[in-house]
Parts: sequence; structure tokens; C-alpha cells
Amino acid sequence: MRIAIKGTGQLARMMALAGWPLGYSFAFFGSKQENTSCIEGLGDIIFLEDHADIDSLYDALGKPDVITVEKEEVDTTLLRKLQQHCPIYPDPDVIDICRHRGKEKNWINEQGIPTANYRVTANRDDIIAALNSFSSSAILKTCSGGYDGYNQWRLKTEQDIQDLDDSVCVQDCVMEEMVNFSTEVSVIAARNSKGEVAVYPVTENYHRRGTLLISEAPAPDLSEELEAEAQRMIATLLNASNYVGVLAMECFVTENGLVVNELAPRVHNSGHWTMNAGIASQFENHLRAITGMPLGNTKPAKAGGMVNLLGVDVTAKDALGEDAYLHLYNKSVKPNRKMGHINLQADDSESLKAQLNALAKQVYGDDI
Ligand code: AMP
Repeated sequence: MRIAIKGTGQLARMMALAGWPLGYSFAFFGSKQENTSCIEGLGDIIFLEDHADIDSLYDALGKPDVITVEKEEVDTTLLRKLQQHCPIYPDPDVIDICRHRGKEKNWINEQGIPTANYRVTANRDDIIAALNSFSSSAILKTCSGGYDGYNQWRLKTEQDIQDLDDSVCVQDCVMEEMVNFSTEVSVIAARNSKGEVAVYPVTENYHRRGTLLISEAPAPDLSEELEAEAQRMIATLLNASNYVGVLAMECFVTENGLVVNELAPRVHNSGHWTMNAGIASQFENHLRAITGMPLGNTKPAKAGGMVNLLGVDVTAKDALGEDAYLHLYNKSVKPNRKMGHINLQADDSESLKAQLNALAKQVYGDDI
């Protein structure tokens, strides 16, 4: 079985590392501007600029049996052309929804699942009208191209909106009412082409300057009802879209239940702990799903967590304790860059939390 991955970053790397033991071979494709250090040695690397037509690209990829993606910011027109040759999972139609915040929120609400109140905006007047329709302050996000807090503006007053650059206001954006939440969680699940769904325990996530720093599963303070609600919500989204592969759903935990913040139609940073949890990792289950295999176990016996290595150069010697598992992405250090992560296991949530915090402190000192 041959799998082509659109993308050359760490998620592509970890998919390939999970696929090698299954006997799969890989090709990766992207533009010449993309850094390929993460995937070197793991398969063929094909540059789009070298292939003027789709047949030539498909041949260069080694005629894969299936194609997948490592991120939603992809040219879905290109994927639809490749779809003439082999299946693309997740389907480009779903990717198109998930890469546009307005379409995504609308679709989630259509499935009866709550998001923040929002309005799609295209100019300053729309943004002012949206703020006036909300009962609290708001956050403006570009419909596409934003991540980890980039391309977002927190707006409390009309003056804040008057102070925005024209170039911001004329973009397609969503204006979202601020959600009053206690914690941020994510839920990751896989669905295969037979319609089988496997859901991992809900994960609690902590950010550092807008970027994920620590994940902890199962989410320590989540009630059984909300755990079940999260599982029901993601299964609804997977089944409604006839989804194949892994989907991640980020949520706010509020007094009134879960509110979905956003979806990622791919493996997700908050699921990296699954790699050392004694179960099928999110990467393996993604591959199982897209290659028509039964899904693997998603219910770990122990608590599992992860600390991201952001812009720090950590070596195995520095990092490896008895229950710690280091994953490096073969990147050169840049500030805040995702260099790798360390997974930890513990018998219970309390000792896991203590170990995760101690590890973060060891890596970042007081700069957390
Ligand atoms: P996002 O890029 O949508 O994941 O947003 C980045 C972060 O901003 C989230 O992890 C939240 O901490 C915060 N945030 C985003 N949207 C909202 C919202 N509607 N209400 C409150 N906080 C938000």
C-alpha cells in the first residue's frame, strides 16, 4: 500500500513513522518553499513546481493508493484533480468547510452543535454591527489563514474597531462573541470507510502565548456527562460528513456545556500523547481509517500527557526519565517553533499533572 501525504511537516513525519510498521510506503508533496527536514528519509519528496499536469504528479508520487493531508491549508482544487486517480481522505469538500471559519461554524450549528455566537463580516460596519449585537466583548478572526492566535483581534469597544487597519476590516472574517469558559479541551476521533468510529478520551489543553504547551488525558476536571457529550458531538460530525480519517474538535468547557471552537480535519497536536499510551496512536488510526482497516484501541489504561518543545533544543539525555518518551521532528531551532514533544504516562491524573508541570518547568524555567 502506498500513501501520498500533502505536506512536509511534523504531522506528515509522524504519520509516516506510524505507517512503516504496517508495511506502507510514503511519498510527500508540497512546494519548493516548504522545509522538508521533518520527512527526510521517510519517503519520496515531490515538488509541485516540477509537474505541470496532474498525471505527471500522480506518476511522480508513485501512483499512490490513497492521498491524505497534514493540514487544512491546502489547494483543494488540486486535490479534486488527484481524486480522479485515487481516493483523497478526508474528502476535499470537508477540508473546504474546515479551512473557512464561517463555513465551519455554520456547518457545526446545522448539525445541532453549539459554537460561540458569531457573524461573518466583510467591512468595518459589519464588525460594528456584530459587536453591538453581542452581550459581551468579541474576537475577530480571519475566515482563513489564522492559527494559534494569529490573525485575531480582541475587540471590546467601537473605538477598538475604529482603530483596526482597513486591510483587516475588508477581509472575510468571523466576529465571535467571547465565550466564558473554565478550560479548553479537544476530542480526537477516527472514522473508517465502513462507518466505524473510535474516539479517544477528551484531552485538556494549556497554551503558552497562544501555542499549545501541555495536553493531559483524560481531561481531569470533565464530568462523565460532558465526556459522553464530546464523544456524541464528534461522532455526529464524522457521520454527517461521511468522514474518513482522524478529525479533531476543540471545545470550550462552559457552565452550559461544551461549545465548539474549531475543527481540524487531520491529526492534531493535542493527540500526540496517544503515541505512548499503549493503544493505537492517532497517526496509526488515521492510516488504518484511510486504508480501510479496522480501527485500533483508543482507550488507554493510564493517564497520558504531553509537553510541547517550543523553540527549545532538548536532547534525549536531557529529557528521558523512566516514563518519558521524546519525539523530535528534525528541525533547526527558531523562537517558538514546534521542535518536538515529550509524552508522559502516570497511574492517575493527579500525578500526571504534577509530572507535566515539573517537566514544563525543567524545559522552560519560569518562562511558562
Ligand atoms: P483559535 O485560533 O480559534 O483556536 O483561538 C486561539 C485562542 O483564543 C483559543 O485557544 C482561546 O483561548 C481563545 N479564543 C478563541 N475564540 C474565543 C472565543 N470565542 N471566546 C473566548 N476565547 C476565545
